[in-house]
Amino acid sequence: MLLALLGISYDEFERYATLWLPVVFMGVLVFLIWRTMKLVPRTKPQQITPRSKSAITWDDIAGVEETKEELREVVDFLSDPKRFKQLGAKVPKGILLHGPPGTGKTLLAKAVAHESGAQFFSQSASAFVEMFAGLGAARIRRLFAKARENPPAIIFIDELDAVGAERGSDISGERDQTLNQLLVEMDGFDARDQVIVMAASNMLEKLDRALLRPGRFDRQVFVPPPDMRGRERILRVHSRGKPLAQDVDLDRVARHTAGLTGADLAN
Ligand code: ADP
Repeated sequence: MLLALLGISYDEFERYATLWLPVVFMGVLVFLIWRTMKLVPRTKPQQITPRSKSAITWDDIAGVEETKEELREVVDFLSDPKRFKQLGAKVPKGILLHGPPGTGKTLLAKAVAHESGAQFFSQSASAFVEMFAGLGAARIRRLFAKARENPPAIIFIDELDAVGAERGSDISGERDQTLNQLLVEMDGFDARDQVIVMAASNMLEKLDRALLRPGRFDRQVFVPPPDMRGRERILRVHSRGKPLAQDVDLDRVARHTAGLTGADLAN
């Protein structure tokens, strides 16, 4: 009936169908694959070049003098690796900054990058964990590959506990796979690469033991909440260039803000 209305015979219809049906089918298939690909969330690592305006210097961080002192060695290595090699000194591959939130861990990693003239690649570990299996591992691979292409470089992984928690506690296996990829990448590069991995975590005790082994995050640096002098210095850093009333006494403010972290004080 329909064929008669269209004015084509059954034979012609059959010829068209065998010719065009596979093409239409393929088209629909390609469209569906393209839609699925678009659903996959894209996250790019944040990249800061040494000369960028958002660069952080040592002077922007206060109250964590001992931590800064420990990190100076990394700055020296990244800015002059030859000298290190001549002396036969070993530089840690991975540095884990741990301490309460808001004490300046991200800030310290950025400052190390800026002071040593290294590229800074940062990504939060929570961005690696997706519902798509294998995506986290691929992101880790891409992050390391990008850093290796731009030496000297610092890879900063924030909230390491999002992937670094003890293996076996994850039902889907996606987090374990991501963590394994991170371990593989850290084993795969050496001092010649001039890439250093820094990570931040609030919960050192929850991390997988394998992450803390030599050759991985074997240097753990505690970033403590600031003491009174530290708080005063942080207040000074954040009130720099801002008009203050005559009667503001930062020393007194510091005295009354026991327990606050750098982020609280900045706030
Ligand atoms: P963390 O990574 O430890 O959670 P951040 O480095 O992200 O903390 O710090 C958050 C904000 O708090 C910073 O952008 C900065 O303004 C402020 N801050 C934290 N610690 C310090 C510090 N020691 N000196 C100056 N500012 C700080």
